[in-house]
Amino acid sequence: MKTSTQVVVIGGGVVGASILYHLTKAGWTDVVLVERKELTAGSTWHAAGGMLTLNGDPNIAALQRYTVQLYKDIEEISGVSCGIHQTGELMLADTQERLDWLRMIHARGQYLSMETEMISVAEAKEMLPILEEKHFAGAMWDPVGGHVDPSGVTNAYAAAARMAGAEVYRNTWAHDLIQKNDGTWDVVTEQGTINTEHIVNCGGLWAREVGRMCGIELPILAMEHMYLLTEEIPEIKPWLEATGGFGFGAVDFGGEIYLRAEGGGLLLGTYEQACVPWSTKETPWDFGSQLLAPDLDRLTPSFEVSFAHFPIFNEVGIKQVINGPFTFAPDGNPLIGPIRGQKGHWVACGVMAGLSQGGGVGLAMANWMTTGDPGFDIWGMDVARYGDWTTPGYTQAKVMENYSRRFQISFPNEELPAGRPLYTSPIHERLTEANAVWGASYGLENALWFQEKGKEPIEDVTFKRSNAFGLVGEEVRAVREKVGLMETTGFAKHEFSGSGAREFLEKLVTNKVPSAGRLTLAPMLNEKGMLIGDFTIATLADPFTEEERFLIFGSGVAEGYHHRWFTSHLPSNGSVSYRVLSHEMTGLSIAGPLARDVLASLVEEDVSNEAFRFLDIRPMNVGMVPAIVGRISFSGDLGYEFWVPASLQASLFDLLVEAGEPYGMKLFGLHALNSLRFDKNFGGWATEYRPIYNPWEAGLGHFVKLDKGDFIGREAALAAQEKGAERKLTAFTIDTEDADAVGDEPIWVNGEVVGWVTSGGYAHWSQASCALGYVPVDAAGTFEIEILGKKRLATPLDEPLFDPSGSKMRS
Ligand SMILES: Cc1cc2nc3c(=O)[nH]c(=O)nc-3n(C[C@H](O)[C@H](O)[C@H](O)COP(=O)(O)OP(=O)(O)OC[C@H]3O[C@@H](n4cnc5c(N)ncnc54)[C@H](O)[C@@H]3O)c2cc1C
Repeated sequence: MKTSTQVVVIGGGVVGASILYHLTKAGWTDVVLVERKELTAGSTWHAAGGMLTLNGDPNIAALQRYTVQLYKDIEEISGVSCGIHQTGELMLADTQERLDWLRMIHARGQYLSMETEMISVAEAKEMLPILEEKHFAGAMWDPVGGHVDPSGVTNAYAAAARMAGAEVYRNTWAHDLIQKNDGTWDVVTEQGTINTEHIVNCGGLWAREVGRMCGIELPILAMEHMYLLTEEIPEIKPWLEATGGFGFGAVDFGGEIYLRAEGGGLLLGTYEQACVPWSTKETPWDFGSQLLAPDLDRLTPSFEVSFAHFPIFNEVGIKQVINGPFTFAPDGNPLIGPIRGQKGHWVACGVMAGLSQGGGVGLAMANWMTTGDPGFDIWGMDVARYGDWTTPGYTQAKVMENYSRRFQISFPNEELPAGRPLYTSPIHERLTEANAVWGASYGLENALWFQEKGKEPIEDVTFKRSNAFGLVGEEVRAVREKVGLMETTGFAKHEFSGSGAREFLEKLVTNKVPSAGRLTLAPMLNEKGMLIGDFTIATLADPFTEEERFLIFGSGVAEGYHHRWFTSHLPSNGSVSYRVLSHEMTGLSIAGPLARDVLASLVEEDVSNEAFRFLDIRPMNVGMVPAIVGRISFSGDLGYEFWVPASLQASLFDLLVEAGEPYGMKLFGLHALNSLRFDKNFGGWATEYRPIYNPWEAGLGHFVKLDKGDFIGREAALAAQEKGAERKLTAFTIDTEDADAVGDEPIWVNGEVVGWVTSGGYAHWSQASCALGYVPVDAAGTFEIEILGKKRLATPLDEPLFDPSGSKMRS
């Protein structure tokens, strides 16, 4: 056994084996995999082997397609059979809503060249004669799905990796992980210790325990999962014969089952409502290739609908029930990437569909480890989307919710209730009294909009405009005509200080760090010149020592993502202090033409346009509340932000509400803010700004100061500028009556898909349905955006609909 190597992959399930293979393919061949027992000895060996490309996140769907298409290659390279049956997959919708959802998935797949096809119930019946037509509304056919042999796949990956120089040590339990002073890791195993630069936690059912060896609590939990095999069914013979003997996979969303042909009968699985987590506290190390006791009674209620949809099930006997555990993250998507604060510690776990996702996860991880960038849009899988706030209790509530909703539609405006409320700000009760409708983001409750007094604060879930529409419009008009008040605690707040802080930040962001008392907008790039942050930076100076303190405001959901980047770049000489202020610093914002009057009524200072300019920031006593006040707003109107410790937020809120009353001030929520930004074509993190776009494409070029000195990504940004952008972020209005774009819809020009929507919504002030999206710079002709399966005329905008000169914010 090697005693030193570049990478130790911990865990020989389908995910670990795939990463090992992809690392060798990327040129890292001094790599080792340690497996506690035999390869596949976790959840992989009892997987049903189904593979499909369907995923609500089109980027993950694309990686699933890569996985499915990879099997032939690794079979050829390794000579090990993967038992590939690429039979296709039929997705059945029983209601119009589910059909709309399938249409949306189908449309989203178009710009990623997915090959799905919408088909009628009659066509579905012809393909799968055992279904009862009257229960269905339509279907989608995906020719890429099918099933494989999980053990064959895992062994093929491992064999292909070994051929390229990797080593695989079976019966080698890693029971301790120690990071040494030089940053390398000692992986302590039963067979000896291996020193390595990188560890990759692919522990599957034990990933949580492997994380704990390094003091990390990963938000994953295993669930029991059952599928059953029926006796032979003579009635399916014609179907099998018509499909080359293998049938194909099918998912019945209404019946909440997946099925496929197996051994002359059917394999049938469900994600039951009465789901049961497994080993909630700790996975026993002596758990081997075992199955759990089946519990058919638990499944029976879940089968009621599907047995009506497929009456044949009422007549067949059950041959075997398989019950095995596998792991999930709170949102059901994998957790991959580097662990913040621990150099060389990587994770790839919570991969709930290893046979559909393992290949893509392996490729993204190998890219990331060898080049510093995953090479794909893996935001939906990045482990940094969770933070310290994800306690095991939260994880359990969310995993159970997600498991039981596996086949249910998630509406774009849906806020799921499990694990909430978790974090609330000090004004939560006040906003609840004002009838706030709540959503949660990164663990914190945020007011989305305010329901009329006396009505239940609930938003109807729908693909179309909801009951929030009219009231959000009123909030928007209050901001544009008078003044509005909203909470901004949900922003991430990163604080930097120390003698090296300014120099450090100059190296990190593309714009010049502002002078004391000023704010600036600054993107952040990775080495490849791609966008990894979009911040507002505030510089504050101590009045006596003049020592500078920097506050960086960023997207709340990216707090962990940015924390990871900042900590991994901090100088080791201690010249920079950094901390995340999280919920200890809370925020409020007023916006609208009368915002200055409200502020002036509460402060002693001169806050005229000349004395308190756009992008000024300074401490002020607002009434008796000491606050940091900045002149900025995401609404595109005159606006101010107030930052105070949590203990002062309620007092400040009361003051502002009282002072705003004579000016007709109204509370507004995140839905209204979203509407206001569409008036201005303002982009946002995780939608318009992601690591797959460069600043020139994203329209942020004017914040990139190539002449300010060196910063991370400068060379790549320069090269990208010289080359010229091939696509650009473009704003559109859309001719639509009752449904708006939400994101990921394809954009067509002259009948061809050329781009995709990053976000969309209704701009109430401009009275226009709007979308932002990326299209080729030379795209010209008739633009259309597909919403709910229907192409709608879209008009590109040359300038924002509201205040194109930006004078409202500045005067
Ligand atoms: C009943 C059932 C049906 C399923 N059907 C499907 C399906 O049809 N399609 C699909 O895509 N997915 C399916 N799955 C899910 C699939 O099994 C998982 O997605 C997949 O197995 C995850 O693989 P993994 O490599 O992450 O984890 P695992 O398979 O759990 O592998 C982890 C490995 O790490 C090893 N290990 C852990 N800790 C250590 C350590 N400290 N030292 C050394 N080794 C260690 C373990 O022994 C194990 O071999 C199903 C799961 C179940 C339970």
